[in-house]
Amino acid sequence: MPHPTLPLGLRRALCLAAAALSSLSQAAPTVSRLTPPSELFTSGQPAPVIARFLPGQRFDLQATLRPDAGQRIVSARFSIDGVPVNAPTALHECGTACIKGVPAEAAIATVRALSVSRPGLHQFEVQATQGDRQTVSARGNFEVLPYAPGAGPKVRNLIILLGDGLGIAQRTAARVVRGGYAQGKVIEPLAMDSFPATAFVKTASLDSIVTDSSPGMTAYVLGNKNNNNEEGVFPDDTLDAFDNPRIEYLAEFLHRTQGKALGLVTTAEVFDATPAGNAVHTSNRSAGTGIVDQFFDDRHLTGLSVLMGGGRRWFLPAGTPGSTRAERNDYAFSTTEPHTADLVKRWGAAPGRVDLQRDLLADFQQAGFAYAPDKSTLDAIDPRRADKLLGLFNLSNMNVALDKIDGRRARQHGLTEPSVVDDHGFPDQPMLDEMAAKALAVLQRQSKGFVLMIEGASIDKQAHAMDTERWLLETLEFDRAVKVAQDFAREHGDTLVIVTADHECSGAALIGGSRVSDAELQALAQAGGSENLRDKVVGTYGQAGFPRYTIAADGYPASTNIDRRMLIGYGANADRYEDWRTNPRPLREGGHPFVKQEPLASYPATPMARDADGRYLVTGQVRGTAAAHTGADVPLSAFGPGAWQFVGVIDNTDVFFRLAQAAVQGPPAGPGASSVKPRRRAGP
Ligand SMILES: [Zn+2]
Repeated sequence: MPHPTLPLGLRRALCLAAAALSSLSQAAPTVSRLTPPSELFTSGQPAPVIARFLPGQRFDLQATLRPDAGQRIVSARFSIDGVPVNAPTALHECGTACIKGVPAEAAIATVRALSVSRPGLHQFEVQATQGDRQTVSARGNFEVLPYAPGAGPKVRNLIILLGDGLGIAQRTAARVVRGGYAQGKVIEPLAMDSFPATAFVKTASLDSIVTDSSPGMTAYVLGNKNNNNEEGVFPDDTLDAFDNPRIEYLAEFLHRTQGKALGLVTTAEVFDATPAGNAVHTSNRSAGTGIVDQFFDDRHLTGLSVLMGGGRRWFLPAGTPGSTRAERNDYAFSTTEPHTADLVKRWGAAPGRVDLQRDLLADFQQAGFAYAPDKSTLDAIDPRRADKLLGLFNLSNMNVALDKIDGRRARQHGLTEPSVVDDHGFPDQPMLDEMAAKALAVLQRQSKGFVLMIEGASIDKQAHAMDTERWLLETLEFDRAVKVAQDFAREHGDTLVIVTADHECSGAALIGGSRVSDAELQALAQAGGSENLRDKVVGTYGQAGFPRYTIAADGYPASTNIDRRMLIGYGANADRYEDWRTNPRPLREGGHPFVKQEPLASYPATPMARDADGRYLVTGQVRGTAAAHTGADVPLSAFGPGAWQFVGVIDNTDVFFRLAQAAVQGPPAGPGASSVKPRRRAGP
């Protein structure tokens, strides 16, 4: 308001002018989204800094611009620290291609594949003009983190072991089963427990305290938070799941700058969030067809040389029995729309194609990948002759360790009754440690080193199912893969290994132990009800004692149905019936193309379809049929040069910068640096 001592006429004139100005400013276009995400844009606060990059790491700038009614955005330009960016700005109107709530006349301005080499906090700005020359500008910030001077040689190989859903309770429970306790002391520690450095990791994603597996993985290999269900991208306002603003992955950065190769090994389908969250850029983690195509099409960007897991259904031409390739989840970039054309031009990404009939298995093989459909073939592949490897051991997720081991033992004993792996059609699947060993044997030949991600996927999937013994054995299988990686790092001193999780799953709690023998437990389950299955069984504190599992020569419990077994509860559970005994069959595998046919059709569909005879209903706080992820921190343990960087309570995005530091500059000097030296160094 004008000052009250001014003459009335002048005050009125000034008021009118102010009103005119404010109506003019209302008539300006607005910026409703600015990427990379920042608090400076969202709340006006310069901290915390949300987006952080390595010097030279590539990323996209983007803004959603909304013109006034009847207007169009005619131009937009970005600047960083006041200097116009030296790259073309693509401007495209939404039309019908944007999400609900974003008007058709909104325009999206995008600059692809920028990078900033100067460390420090940077401000960036978008300025846009609509047809009547009204303008708008908005600012955000991001940080480029400097490297510390390297105090040792550069680390050549990075191995990331990702136990999906592997929280502290899962890790402890696996130790109880595998290691055993004597008067409170562990008899044989897990391999991951022998790593010298351990940190707590904060796991929140860009849009939630509870992450799913996509941003849970990508934070480690992007240095940035993604939204749930999104991988390798920042969120945007378009419907296209493959056109989002990209961030360069660790593997892409190290392949581009150092020529390193990438290996991805999982027990899930290979298109699943964790493996894809190392190499594929999409806002839809479920886009199976496009994701597997992009693995192959963009291998020149990622250095992808080893890909192993399940998910063969996406690689088979549509119409082949078992194929689930679908048009709606494929990808194809318009080369006439500048913002997608720039993905091809500036990132060097493949344009993609909607190609249901594509024989992706043949494409991989023609590109020099040795292909293994089962363990026997995998074993027969000579790593001295193969420098690229594709293994697809199931149509959907691989069967879990418990069922694979059961199948192996049944065959050893000459049993003819079909086991779970037979029912799924894949009796000869490798264990994760066997896949890890072969991956390392192949990748070892890479002259510039490699990034290898090894995922124990069904720790999470079986925790969702609240199938205790299945995630327990899955964790033991994962730890055997940890041992393989650790042994490799001992042999090759230039290898840094981390073992961690993307998030906890199910709120698993080590309640204690059963107070009864397995025979008594079966009798109590017949009698049924909580008065029997809870009150007479669940032993807490001193009644739990030390459950003692016998480990067979194959490394897994001879039986999980032991007397006085360990008991696990769930804090993020859906309703389930519980009788504590090992479920003879897993829940129905939803992704299996033949799940509606026998024998899979008669597998239990939900945790309410198991153990119902015991009538002990454990109600949950989570609706639906699956336990949920939780927001608790997860442990991360590290081994090899640079391991000591992984201590304290750190953000999941911090991990990326420490891995990159080790690979680009060598581990920095620091406490404990000498105590984690490998036994001997490889090479000349
Ligand atoms: Zn999960």
